[in-house]
Amino acid sequence: MRLNTSLLIALFAVDLCKALTIPSRPVSFVAHQQAPFSSQVLFASRSNDDEIVDKELTAREARINAPLSAIATALSLYPNNAFAYEAEEKAKAREANRAKIRAARSGVPPPTPVAAAPPTPPPAPSPVIQLPTKFDLTAKRYFPGAMKSSGVTSTVSSVLKKRGYQPSSTLLGSSLCSDEINYKPEALVNQMQKKLSNGELGGVFNMGGLGGIPFAGTTGFSAFVSHCPGNGKIVFLYGPHVGISEDGVVGKVKRIGVEKESTSCGAAVGALKAIELQYQAKPKTNQTMVDAPVPKGFDFQQDFIVDNLRTKLGDLATLEAQGGDQTLAFTTSKVYSIIQEVVLAEIRKKTKDPTFWSKVTEVAIVGGIVINRDPNAGEDYFQPLSFKGFDKDKEFDLYGEGFGADISIPDGLAIRMRETNMKIN
Ligand SMILES: [Zn+2]
Repeated sequence: MRLNTSLLIALFAVDLCKALTIPSRPVSFVAHQQAPFSSQVLFASRSNDDEIVDKELTAREARINAPLSAIATALSLYPNNAFAYEAEEKAKAREANRAKIRAARSGVPPPTPVAAAPPTPPPAPSPVIQLPTKFDLTAKRYFPGAMKSSGVTSTVSSVLKKRGYQPSSTLLGSSLCSDEINYKPEALVNQMQKKLSNGELGGVFNMGGLGGIPFAGTTGFSAFVSHCPGNGKIVFLYGPHVGISEDGVVGKVKRIGVEKESTSCGAAVGALKAIELQYQAKPKTNQTMVDAPVPKGFDFQQDFIVDNLRTKLGDLATLEAQGGDQTLAFTTSKVYSIIQEVVLAEIRKKTKDPTFWSKVTEVAIVGGIVINRDPNAGEDYFQPLSFKGFDKDKEFDLYGEGFGADISIPDGLAIRMRETNMKIN
């Protein structure tokens, strides 16, 4: 400690002497080492003017600051970083004073320091916002629970696999409209075939005729269930269909190779028009009977739809006042009700027969409305309206588990349709 004190005193003396006698040069070895930035700023090579301006400041500050800095550093009062920072601040203040003195002498105000512009952050990746299309808006409005066919297939498959449905022992049947648009490669029935039944070797028992009504009838249902593998299970998919164009028009859809959009479902729309003509007391045009006579009742499928739809549509004037989209969506829901009534009647009749369960262990039915869209725009949608199970003891609802809503009361359709504001009652 004594040695340090002596060294400090010596350094102080040397610094003080140098500061007083040689003000324009580095004032001390210690100060130069400990405050490099300050020293560089203070004693960097400058013009004559600068030296004249600085002369007084330099001499005064050097006389005072440098020895004190040396003492402080030696006594470790300041960490090196802190000292360097302090020296830097002093250098900045000196530069500002210099500018003021120069300005006062020249009469020109010192330039205002321009703040450096903050660095421009890299552009954030813009989020991909997919705006709903007209198809989306119309589907959402009239069929708010509609899902893509692939989503419906995954949901149904997930629920049924938990219940022990295996592709090797599951028979799939369907009742969809004969229209080829319902049998495209990515159609719901084809996706379900691949996922739920033996998609490579097995087929689908198709009971559907025009409008999706199971015109194979009671005999068809009996044949269908008799084809179930031993100790197996049955899945039955059914419902009408309706197109929605990419412009958002209900009842219209683009077909492959056809330039203009066409009607879907033609049978349902045709039936609606026939009923409208009946209300207007106009005779039904039957060109077929004129050109090529066919056996009576040959067009029984369309006649059946017209007869059964008429009583369900109610007042046509009120219906049509709601506009074409609403009219066709409502008409489609009524075709669904016709199908649902027939399917439930047949399945309940079968499953209540004890002999039915000799080789079948469970039955699941999936009903709803197929929503066709332009094949170039994506896969079809499906509005699920019923998902039920049957075993030898009971009938149970699977809709809530699969599609997230509890419609465990018998007429699930009414609940779903009330949700869609279709006013079926
Ligand atoms: Zn059809």
